[in-house]
Amino acid sequence: MNRQVNIAICPFSFPASLPLGPSIIKAFVEEHSDFKVACVDLNAEWYNTFVDAALAGKSFIQFTPQAHADFTKAAAMFRQGGDVFWNEAEYLRLSRFFESTIRKVENVFLDGFERACAHGEYVPPIKAYAEHAARKLLANDPSVVGFSLMFREQYMPSVLIAYYVKALKPDVKIVFGGGYTSACHPSVVFANPFIDFVVFNEGEGGFLDLLQALDRGQTRFDGIPNLIWRDADVPDGWVKNPKSPSVDFKTQPYPDFSDYTLGSYFQPEPVFPIMSSKGCAWDKCTFCTHHRSYSGAHRAANTDRVVGEIEHMVNTYGVKRFAFVDEMISPGRFRRISEDLIAKGIDITWYALAKPDLIYTQDVLDIMYKGGCRYLLWGVESANQRTIDLMDKGTTPDGVAEVLARSTKAGIRNHLFIIVGFPSETEREYMETMDFLYKNRDNVHRILACGFSLDNGSVIFKEPERFGISRIWDVSNIATVSVKYDVVDGVGCFDTEKHAMFWKTNFFDHFESFRGDLGLFRNHALLHYTYEQRIKPLGNRRVPNPRKLKPPPYQSGANTKPDRKVLTK
Ligand code: SF4
Repeated sequence: MNRQVNIAICPFSFPASLPLGPSIIKAFVEEHSDFKVACVDLNAEWYNTFVDAALAGKSFIQFTPQAHADFTKAAAMFRQGGDVFWNEAEYLRLSRFFESTIRKVENVFLDGFERACAHGEYVPPIKAYAEHAARKLLANDPSVVGFSLMFREQYMPSVLIAYYVKALKPDVKIVFGGGYTSACHPSVVFANPFIDFVVFNEGEGGFLDLLQALDRGQTRFDGIPNLIWRDADVPDGWVKNPKSPSVDFKTQPYPDFSDYTLGSYFQPEPVFPIMSSKGCAWDKCTFCTHHRSYSGAHRAANTDRVVGEIEHMVNTYGVKRFAFVDEMISPGRFRRISEDLIAKGIDITWYALAKPDLIYTQDVLDIMYKGGCRYLLWGVESANQRTIDLMDKGTTPDGVAEVLARSTKAGIRNHLFIIVGFPSETEREYMETMDFLYKNRDNVHRILACGFSLDNGSVIFKEPERFGISRIWDVSNIATVSVKYDVVDGVGCFDTEKHAMFWKTNFFDHFESFRGDLGLFRNHALLHYTYEQRIKPLGNRRVPNPRKLKPPPYQSGANTKPDRKVLTK
């Protein structure tokens, strides 16, 4: 069997983030076998191709001369930086325009992909793109092509490109994997006859075992962990093998980012993702389904390994900015990592996700700042104690306020996750969160809010009555795994996004000048905070009083027209 294996990262993922999962798998497979793995970032290629076409006036987007000038300025700002990147008003104006433009184009393409996959209607540019991508994936004659999917938006493009890969080279094996694939029912994925295997949860071990089994000419794949494979002898037509524990960090080499062009990620300086642990040490939040991406219990790398990985990236790629993508890191680990970075004189900056517990002492946060931490994404979610307890966050509003104050004092900016419309949350409870944010506005620098969405696999999904949910029904389609629900009290599921959007526009977006957003430009915030002398100091914000705002009517109750399969009654 040919030793070449490719892993595709298809549109549409974040344009300003390097793919981590495929880079981990590449390093692991190459370390433990003689297979060669190439990570092919079609997502980065797609965004750069679109932007270049738009700049050259060759895109279907019709710009006015002013809009074209703005788009040109925005593209240059993201790719090269320059003074405009540090100018609050210009950064905001241009990044919003840039984002809304690429979103429009994404939506046109997504619609085209869905029509092609679901109805067989091929819009010429979609067909041409999918064929081009497939040829690119086959250029080095691989025996296996993997597709790594983190997001729902990647599903249709991946399916269509996989179809063309198989059509052009029928003997190539197609493997789907990644966090989004792990959330899909195998029947949905295997409804596409050209997909041969699914690797779920963490991919490295199962993927390597699969390659070796294929190399031996096996036709049965029992015993390969984390693998779903086709078996015509069973009623479903597929078999899901048991999962294995996470691969130990001791046997896992550092991720290999050598296949990517660092200048193609719409950020003036590259920001590298780093994962220092797998799973979540808390693992209790009732809305959370992040455990689906991991193979077993929480597992953390030791400090030497984490700092060694950072040092390796600094020396190999010259990168000095990092994003910890761990679900959460304990203050004790943050302290040890920071102390080691300081002791070794590794001059970097970074950001991470964190749970706002009082064990974040002033001392710990001060050391983290010295070790390069410039902002933290705190999972606050709500400031109403009953709701917090229902979420099982293990925090208190007073404790959160104290941690945010300490963090600000240390020089670390606070970005807060807030959930709008948690099931059963009353209007009074929901306003408590807004009051909390207003009261603590000097220590809240950015709010990342979303309307609550119910995910299959969460505690809420398994025990809906406890959360005032009277019924759940399935609205999945060929492109999306999705459920909806009715609530006895609180904001109904069809209204959560409306409320989130109201608060985002009228309240949350007033908290910080520079708005590196959750997905698209999250890394930009690190650059802004790294060079804080170039941006305005804190304290120039005018946050409106939430009590003076008029949110949408607060409605709850059953949706009367469920049109899909009812999962609970
Ligand atoms: S929301 Fe975050 S802290 Fe809570 S269980 Fe999920 S990953 Fe862990």
